[in-house]
Amino acid sequence: MINKIKEIVSSVKEEAIFNRRHLHRFPELSFQEYKTSQYIKSTLQSYAIDFEEVANTGVLAKIVGKKSVSDNTVILRADMDALPIHEENETDFTSRHNGVMHACGHDFHTANLLATLKVLKQMDDDFSGVVIGIFQPAEEKIPGGALAVLASEKLPSSAQNVKGVIGLHVSPGLEMGKVGVRAGKFMASADEIYLTVKGKGGHGAQPHLNIDPVIISAQLMVSLQQVVSRFANPAIPSVLSFGKVIANGATNVIPNEVYIEGTFRTMDESWRAQALQLIGKQIKELPEIYGATAELEIRRGYPALINDMELTSRISYSLKEYVSEDNFENLDIWMAAEDFAYYSQHYPSVFYFIGTGNVEKGITSALHTPTFQIDEEAFDHAIGGMVYSAMQLLS
Ligand SMILES: [Zn+2]
Ligand SMILES: [Zn+2]
Repeated sequence: MINKIKEIVSSVKEEAIFNRRHLHRFPELSFQEYKTSQYIKSTLQSYAIDFEEVANTGVLAKIVGKKSVSDNTVILRADMDALPIHEENETDFTSRHNGVMHACGHDFHTANLLATLKVLKQMDDDFSGVVIGIFQPAEEKIPGGALAVLASEKLPSSAQNVKGVIGLHVSPGLEMGKVGVRAGKFMASADEIYLTVKGKGGHGAQPHLNIDPVIISAQLMVSLQQVVSRFANPAIPSVLSFGKVIANGATNVIPNEVYIEGTFRTMDESWRAQALQLIGKQIKELPEIYGATAELEIRRGYPALINDMELTSRISYSLKEYVSEDNFENLDIWMAAEDFAYYSQHYPSVFYFIGTGNVEKGITSALHTPTFQIDEEAFDHAIGGMVYSAMQLLS
């Protein structure tokens, strides 16, 4: 079976690269993937694969295996959106949309799922059950497109017959040819913190007449680190980072207010709720001691992504068989967030990495950077590994 899949994969690989480059040339931001959606639909049409629209720009494709009658279902998911980044690579498929770039590989994910479905369609005599392909909008922006796909109720409602939801992500940190998987806790929840500390500005030489929001903010940010260093169970990974601090005064001007943005990430839902409460309490109470006030908004992001233990071990076994033991890596946890996590709350799910870095070719830039690139040779394992895993789950 593996040899047969490899043969068919090699016949669709060039087209996968062509599709990926087309999508790369014309990236679209979250919730605005109109042309991308059109491209997916017309490509599916050319493969004679049934589909319906979902979540505005999303697409749900469906292939029914002909081997025997079964309502077992495997769901494969790809995200479609790009990022507000101006591409600095110079290739013949560099982004034509100023300030928008596929810098997270969602062009690869979409082309990969199209190719995977094309192969499965050609092999529909070899499996029973149903394969659903989700082309999902807006992974990069909360609330995330996954919620809208799930809310549409167009996916099978009973978790009973869903053998698993499978998603993959390109990883420039993994060499091309490798596949990386982790069972259990894999990626973090991510909540966004928006904060304004309001004091009373004035002359820098007269601090006693002002309420200095700069010093209060500095103290607050240091104090908040105790939420992760003293309150968090050391066994639960937690991160609190502030990436934006604006105190628009001068050498001799204390500003009226300081604006701060940050992120809180962890891997445990009950600790997440408790930590957000602690953060809120400190932000309210600490400035009050000094006569200042704080305005806080916490935007809840994606939950933690938990890979189902049993499903992950099955998929790992299939991937090892397909890419060979040598190319299989056990991954560490990763504190980035993914809205694939919502599927993992509803169905047994597994999200894994496909190596797309290549030091020799100079393909080393990180995700979300203007020089991010992909070694497209990775399509071999990406397409084939997904096809084989899906078929094994349905067998
Ligand atoms: Zn991303
Ligand atoms: Zn991504």
